[in-house]
Parts: sequence; C-alpha cells; structure tokens
Amino acid sequence: MRAFLMALLVLLAPALARAEAPANDQRLILVTMDGTRWQEVFRGPDAALLADKRFTHPDMKDAIEKSWKRGADLMPFLHSLPARGGVLTGNRDAGQCMAVTNAMWFSYPGYNEIFTGRADPAITSNDKIPNRNTTFFEWLNRRPGFAGQVRGYGNWDVFPFIINDKRSGVPVNAELGGAYPTETSVMRRAMDALREKGPRVLYIGLGDTDEFAHMGHYEHYLEAINRDDDFIAELWRMVEADPAWRGKTTLIVTTDHGRGAAPGAAWTEHGSAESVRLDPAGFTIADPAGFPGSDQIWLAAIGPGVHAAAPGSGCLTQSQIAASALTALGEDWRAFDAGAGAPLPFFVGR
Ligand SMILES: [Zn+2]
Repeated sequence: MRAFLMALLVLLAPALARAEAPANDQRLILVTMDGTRWQEVFRGPDAALLADKRFTHPDMKDAIEKSWKRGADLMPFLHSLPARGGVLTGNRDAGQCMAVTNAMWFSYPGYNEIFTGRADPAITSNDKIPNRNTTFFEWLNRRPGFAGQVRGYGNWDVFPFIINDKRSGVPVNAELGGAYPTETSVMRRAMDALREKGPRVLYIGLGDTDEFAHMGHYEHYLEAINRDDDFIAELWRMVEADPAWRGKTTLIVTTDHGRGAAPGAAWTEHGSAESVRLDPAGFTIADPAGFPGSDQIWLAAIGPGVHAAAPGSGCLTQSQIAASALTALGEDWRAFDAGAGAPLPFFVGR
C-alpha cells in the first residue's frame, strides 16, 4: 500500500509542479519576407508589371492572371488570419498605414528596427558588421526560461551579424554550416526545429522575394510570395497539430522594407533619397530622389498574444514589433528597452 502511494505521488508530482509553475510558457514564431510590397500582399499582381516584358515572361502572364487575381489568391493563408481572430494590416487602399522609422529603407536598418524596437541612425549599410545593439532575441536568450530557447534561420548571410550570434549566443543557421542556404533548406530546418520542440522563439528570415525583385523577375517575385505564404501556412498547421506549440504560440509575419511604388522599374529597387546619396553605386537605377513608398510595410499576426483592437488613427511603425513580440511572450518590453516603440494596439489588453 505504501509502495502504491509512493508510486502515485511520483506520478502526480510532475502534474502538481506543472499546475503551480508560472503560466508563462508562451512561444513566438517571427517570419520576415524581405522587401515584399504591401501592394502585392493586398492588391495581388500588378497588371502593368505583368504586361511589361522586361519584368514578366509573356508565357507566364496568362497563367498568373488566371491563378492570382487578388492578394487573397497570392497569399491565401495571411488573408485567412482576420477571420481566425488574427490581423493583417498595412493595406493603404483601406486606410491602414504601417511604415519603417529608419531613414534608409533597406535591409540591415529594417531588421535592426524590427529586432531592437528602434531605428539606429548609425546603421547606413548592409555591411557584415556585428550589431552594436541588443536585439530582443539576445535579451530573451539571457532570461530565465528562454536561455538556449531562441534560434534563427535565414537565407541572407548578414543575419548572423544583425543578430550578433557570437555575442548574443543566439544560433543563426547553426546547422547550415555557414553556407549560403537556399530558401527551401531554411524552411526545412525551421520545420525540423519546430518538430524538435526546442526553441520557444523561432525566427525565420526569407529573402527570395527581394532577390528576384532586384533581378527584375516579377513572376519569380510573385511565386516567392506565394511559396512563402504556403510555407507559413504549413508552419501554422504544424503548430496547431502539436501540443507543445498549440494554443501558446503567437505568429508574426512582416517585412523589412517595401519597394518603389512609381510606375516602371521602381518596384525593383528600394531605399530613401538619403541612402542613394550615401551609396549611389549600390543602385541599378540612378535616382537621387530614392524610391518613394519603400518605407511602407505590412504585418500579419495570429495566436494568443493577438487581440481585437480598435484601429488607431496614426501610422503603425516597424519599431513597435519588438515590444509586440515581447508582450505576446508575457515579457515586460520596458525592461528590455523603455525607449523602444510601444506594442502595436492588437498586442495589448484583452
Ligand atoms: Zn533589397
């Protein structure tokens, strides 16, 4: 009898300990799609760019027009989020607004703003310089409950520098051996990581959208957008099927910058007038005015950290994403950086 009671206690102990432990076992998946315009996300393919032989192979035009008429055809998963209690915002045609606050409108300054919650005017290039700023990944990686639980994957070889993997201890592409990985290998590793239930915070940086846009391949840019949406949908199915992730994972999807909005070739580029002045050789189109509109971004989110919120009057900013992510994880964003952008309205209050 005593042996039976002991056995019962041994069996019950973990359950009792679980019940008494703090409720914070929240997880986060942050996905970025490099240089993906809100125009394609919400309007779908641009008719003028499809008809322009410089950007779209004529053989592809009809097929694209048939399959992707609207943004919801191109990105069915992200467009399904509002009906599931999530958000998709940044549609300027619908009066929504989201923008970067950094003055450059390209990648390193944008990722730094997403990961740290503020623009750093000293970051004026994409050079492989270890970030002097502390990202929320690094801060979490030093917090109880998160140490060793933060991981990143991306197919741009500057991510290890932006996240400062050496100082932060956050592994970025650790299993990919330092090679420049393809987007599909990044997706596969990220899914493996999710399956292993290891990281509580998973960052995935997808870059094909920006690469194809710079090359002027509009149909490949669109295909990358569609493939990324499909990948994110699969990730979310995995989350919902797995008790370790289901009901405690907040997913955020966003972009580091937009692209030029003027007719013609402007969509292939991005950057402010200031960034063109600093590095005129870094652009294939010489335009001292920069690429207006490439500061405009969008964001999607779903999960227990996301709540219905009245649309604010101002323009949402990229600098609010770090505090939003920390709030979704049940962490105090002010303890991370009281000067960071405040959480987005749909990440606060119930
Ligand atoms: Zn770019």
